[in-house]
Amino acid sequence: MRTIRVELGERSYPIHIGSGLLKNIGAYCQEAGFALRSPLLVVSDSTVAPLYLPQVEEALRSQGYQVVTHIFPAGEASKSLAVYEDVMTTAIQGGLDRHSAILALGGGVVGDLAGYVAATYMRGIGFMQIPTTILAHDSSVGGKVAVNHPLAKNMIGAFYQPAMVVYDLDTLLTLPPRQVSSGLAEAIKHGLITDEVFAYWCREHAEELLALDLEALGYALELGCSIKAKVVGNDERENGLRAVLNLGHTIGHAIEAVGGYGVFLHGEAIAIGMAGSALLAAKLGRDRAIYEETVSMLTALSLPIRLPEQYSEDDLMEAMKHDKKFKEGKMTFIIPEAIGSVSIVNDIDEQLVREVLAQLKK
Ligand code: NAD
Ligand code: MG
Repeated sequence: MRTIRVELGERSYPIHIGSGLLKNIGAYCQEAGFALRSPLLVVSDSTVAPLYLPQVEEALRSQGYQVVTHIFPAGEASKSLAVYEDVMTTAIQGGLDRHSAILALGGGVVGDLAGYVAATYMRGIGFMQIPTTILAHDSSVGGKVAVNHPLAKNMIGAFYQPAMVVYDLDTLLTLPPRQVSSGLAEAIKHGLITDEVFAYWCREHAEELLALDLEALGYALELGCSIKAKVVGNDERENGLRAVLNLGHTIGHAIEAVGGYGVFLHGEAIAIGMAGSALLAAKLGRDRAIYEETVSMLTALSLPIRLPEQYSEDDLMEAMKHDKKFKEGKMTFIIPEAIGSVSIVNDIDEQLVREVLAQLKK
């Protein structure tokens, strides 16, 4: 098992990564300081619960915990105020008190939703992330928790750090292939923004990663989590530096918004966005080799790099204007300066972005 620490003063916490951790989840709850006399609530979704919830419940009960569970339908549509209220109802009916804790067993949807319940139930109770997707290495670290509003994603939320992240690699073995690639997009993003060696390592070990070799995955998640932890440790509330984590996300979010959520998975959309940022970098005079290397890395991980013809530049630009990164015809982008290094550029001309979108279709 490997352990990484997120350093945030009194809100610091460990991320445990390894095989076979679920069966010890009761012991991790003790280590996290969760009281035995107060019920724990495990939140999960309809896909993950049948696979892993029995094991988690068993491990918690054998440690002496009382367990309440809430399972909601899998999918982004459940990250809603309606499901938030359902989980709150379960928490109240289950008798959770101020010393109780909530465990999020699942991907980013479960983590974001359960985390927001934990942040707000009785003004905040204990919280543990038990991620079961590769993408969730990103969502479970850093403390952003939220639900969606029908008009905008992640609009209702908080910064709320978990007491611990327990990442059992064995759970990843049941992930469908597209979810694997999508999650790896965020992993390689962490390399592209700060760590050239890790980015190249991902390309070199792409086959093992896609085949769910746990040795390789464990290393990729350790590096991905460490990089995220470091960035968040320097800028918990996104006052500046943390924005580098948005590499590929301006175009990526627009693709998700225009195509409808679920057409492209999040990681797929940001892969196209990262190819776009590298193209934009070339237009701004950066070395074109950055674009070529980026594209070869993404392709090795079976990720898309092209925009389908039916996505109109007008629609995508319109979607980006709803994004917070747009001011008076000038846009902010995270621009790669080299593999493993990026900068935040504030005055990018709208026209240049249109050209990039058109080029992404070729
Ligand atoms: P997800 O939770 O919807 O999981 C993807 C799918 O895989 C779901 O159908 C789920 O049921 C299934 N699944 C999960 N684990 C599985 C397993 N082990 N085996 C088989 N199937 C499994 O989505 P995600 O991709 O993990 O996360 C996306 C969400 O995370 C989005 O809502 C996004 O906004 C959020 N997010 C948040 C942050 C943050 O900082 N808080 C960062 C990135 C993404
Ligand atoms: Mg993301």
